[in-house]
Amino acid sequence: MSLQIHNTLSRSLEEITPRPGEGKSLSLYTCGPTIYAHAHIGNFRAYVFEDLLQRHLQERGFAVRRVMNLTDVDDKTIRGAHAAGIALGDYTRPFKEAFFQDVKTLRLLPAEAYPAATDPEQIARMIAMIGTLMERGHAYQAEDGSVYFRIASFADYGKLAHVDLEGQRPGQRVASDEYEKEAVADFALWKAWVPEDGAVGWESPWGKGRPGWHIECSAMATGLLGETIDIHCGGVDNIFPHHEAEIAQCECAGHGKAPFVRYWMHCAHLMVEGSKMAKSAGNFFTLRDLLEKGWTGREVRYALISVHYRGALNFTLEGLGAARTALGRLDAWRERLTDTSGAETQAEAPGSATGEFFTALDDDLNISGALAVLFETLRESNRRMDEGALTPPQARGLLNWLARVDSVLALEPEALASLPPEVEKLGEERAAARAAKEWKKSDEIRDQIAALGWAVKDTKDGQKITKG
Ligand code: AMP
Ligand code: ZN
Repeated sequence: MSLQIHNTLSRSLEEITPRPGEGKSLSLYTCGPTIYAHAHIGNFRAYVFEDLLQRHLQERGFAVRRVMNLTDVDDKTIRGAHAAGIALGDYTRPFKEAFFQDVKTLRLLPAEAYPAATDPEQIARMIAMIGTLMERGHAYQAEDGSVYFRIASFADYGKLAHVDLEGQRPGQRVASDEYEKEAVADFALWKAWVPEDGAVGWESPWGKGRPGWHIECSAMATGLLGETIDIHCGGVDNIFPHHEAEIAQCECAGHGKAPFVRYWMHCAHLMVEGSKMAKSAGNFFTLRDLLEKGWTGREVRYALISVHYRGALNFTLEGLGAARTALGRLDAWRERLTDTSGAETQAEAPGSATGEFFTALDDDLNISGALAVLFETLRESNRRMDEGALTPPQARGLLNWLARVDSVLALEPEALASLPPEVEKLGEERAAARAAKEWKKSDEIRDQIAALGWAVKDTKDGQKITKG
């Protein structure tokens, strides 16, 4: 079966194919965080889905070039810097650093580039793009000094969000970056400087000001990936007006031959008791909140990845508990397979049913189908190990398959190297105690390690410490 995804533009399943002449290469643009606060795990639902997409495309042999932008100038970042009484760059820097730490904790593959909106090169590109839109009559400067996109000049406006422009009052304008479909109106490309902007502003042919959020992504996406991008992702809240505006800007400023984006993919929101998890609603958890409560990045990743990206996902601590249980089963199985395979180097290919893990993902990232194959394989081989019927080459074959599964899910156990320093130190002390046959001391240290949330198991290859 071919790899199919749901394209928001056509609202149907479409096979992913590279562009002619591009080999097996695909470009992927993912809208990144606005760094005015710590990203919450609703944001990370979007990034984890995008990571699963990238990893599965790579597993299927595509070379993926991914760019993720960082929005470091917009209404919210300026407001935050102003309230803190510091420069914009000083305000956003710690949030940017925290974001990259979270990316690691959640095992997200790094993008090829993380352009920031305030990079001089990007600002120059935004200004050039707005200039082209002005020349072609798609933009105008209003009496407030700001430059707006004239939506009446682009017949396709509304094609992504399926908004009908009939009955709209032409010439209506909106200065803020976010607004509802009902208020569809000309949106700001360049916002004229106002005193609240303080030191934030760049010179342009239309006077001092700053870019609108939508032009930031249009300029960075096409600047780094070219005029046509294969796949563009985000959460459903990005469809309108953000992605709709990106299409209008790029298709009006571009060479007009090809669409801006071939496949649009959007994930459903992470919800909390029926509402979208959002900073503005105050119903959010950051990854840090959860790590402090003793959950691991791997558990959060499992909880976010295990529900289909377009399906409803309600965030609960019970959900994280279920993730912990599922990972515990996978870890125990992996250890059992490792013991069974011993020093065997020959691998027997597992049954063809295991291939269905990947074909399930070919079907619009059907993760439920893929996890069903994984856990069915686990159950079946555990049964055979109970009977002593699984041979070492069969166990080795399953471990090899699991390594391929891991390259897509990235749910393998925390490496020993990532133990917290205090646990690592206790581990060394315990190993020394055991070597000296000081069994009582070794047991005491095991309890100390357990109190920190880690479990020690003694195997023939020495002690193994895993998240308890
Ligand atoms: P923002 O920082 O608000 O621009 O959001 C960054 C990314 O996170 C965008 O792709 C949003 O669509 C996505 N996002 C925001 N809130 C949620 C949520 N509750 N569930 C899933 N994705 C979200
Ligand atoms: Zn964007």
